[in-house]
Amino acid sequence: MAWKTLDDMDLDGKNVLIRVDVNVPVENGKVTDTTRLDRISPTVLEVLSKGGRPILLSHFGRPTRGFDLSMSTQQVVPALSQVLNRRVHFASSCIGQTAREAVDTLPDGDVLLLENTRFHAGEKNNDRGFAKDLAALGDVFVSDTFSTAHRAHASVAALATLLPSCAGRLMEEELKALTNSLSEPERPVLAVVGGAKVSSKLVLLKNLIGPMDKIVIGGGMANTFLAAQGHQVGQSLCEHDLQDTAREILAEAEAANCEIILPVDVVVAREFKEFAENKVRAADDCPRDTMILDAGPDSVENICNKLEDVKTVIWNGPLGAFEIPPFNTATDAVALKVAEMTEDGQILSVAGGGDTVAALKKSGAAESFSYISTAGGAFLEWMEGKTLPGVAALDDTK
Ligand code: ADP
Ligand code: MG
Repeated sequence: MAWKTLDDMDLDGKNVLIRVDVNVPVENGKVTDTTRLDRISPTVLEVLSKGGRPILLSHFGRPTRGFDLSMSTQQVVPALSQVLNRRVHFASSCIGQTAREAVDTLPDGDVLLLENTRFHAGEKNNDRGFAKDLAALGDVFVSDTFSTAHRAHASVAALATLLPSCAGRLMEEELKALTNSLSEPERPVLAVVGGAKVSSKLVLLKNLIGPMDKIVIGGGMANTFLAAQGHQVGQSLCEHDLQDTAREILAEAEAANCEIILPVDVVVAREFKEFAENKVRAADDCPRDTMILDAGPDSVENICNKLEDVKTVIWNGPLGAFEIPPFNTATDAVALKVAEMTEDGQILSVAGGGDTVAALKKSGAAESFSYISTAGGAFLEWMEGKTLPGVAALDDTK
């Protein structure tokens, strides 16, 4: 797959429709976290600097029945204006006469934000007629919302096929990170897959066997694999009904020459509680009345050794119940090792997933990773090998 970027587009004097994600948290009418706005700002400012007229499109929340004041994008205008340091105008509809007039009267150098695309049923249905109404407002389309790329919605998918289209800088960054870590990684490439359950990461695990050289399996899901190998896992979170599946995955990996790295020792406790009394045990020696809440020190050392010759790391899922200290220990230690190797220029490291990002931030390692994806669902679907409609629509090779 290939896609055009802002470098390939003529933006001067053009009405540039930019699909962004302005779903920021709002409390009492005030934006409390501007991260998402900060991240779209490079694209919007670059469009302005190249003489383009930015017209921003976004959804906000999940309205079910048309207009809903609490989900109007208008509430984002002051914060967006502050982040961009530009005047931001607002149109109370994203299509039709209201939008048309707002576009036509937009002073050069200013930015226009249109009302929530999801106030129209056509958005979620990827309706071509609705997409045409949107397309009528612009000369060029820039998609800068990887986080919604897994949804076949009109302003994400259909619209891209109706106008000359390209990826914005944020989208481009995300696509590059995912291509370089998963589709065309420098080898050897190692994946860390952790988290609570095998069932939620089954498709992902199966998809990784082909492209990965090594997969570290950690967190609650490792317990299912330990049980599948005949080990006692006591009260641990474990999907006993998936033991066959776990054995299948191990066999598939072996046939594909993909090394699976499981915990060799574990940290067990009787309670799922902060600072619960805990002990390190061998991975095949979890007492019946305890549960595994983290990987042990030998597992950490083993993983760090496996990392030594690696060139690329892709990470989804913590290695333990990181929210309750000290069961963040293994996750932190491996994260800091990956961070150090990244800083030394030895590896490219990419991580994504809601809890993963929280865990890596908590450990202090996140800032040193090559790329941290905040896309959540879209990141996971890409790792699962699914085609993302919002990315496919930008494909320039067809
Ligand atoms: P992400 O959101 O990054 O995709 P997941 O939601 O799959 O990650 O997994 C994160 C959850 O897994 C965390 O809530 C963490 O507490 C839990 N977890 C990890 N290891 C264990 C364990 N040994 N026992 C119980 N829960 C665990
Ligand atoms: Mg999660």
